[in-house]
Amino acid sequence: MTQRTTPSPRICSNCDGFGSAAITTGGRDRHGHLRTVTADCPACKGTGTRTARVREGARA
Ligand SMILES: [Zn+2]
Repeated sequence: MTQRTTPSPRICSNCDGFGSAAITTGGRDRHGHLRTVTADCPACKGTGTRTARVREGARA
């Protein structure tokens, strides 16, 4: 059982694993709740992880 079918996930270097962030827009709704928008990291699409790129034949 040495076959690996799923690539090991790596932390996204763009967002350090925080794929999506809630950003306050500065306003509050009538209930007094802070209004936030969710922004996803464009590099990992909000997952916080990226699949490692395997460079084959690059070992010196
Ligand atoms: Zn990311």
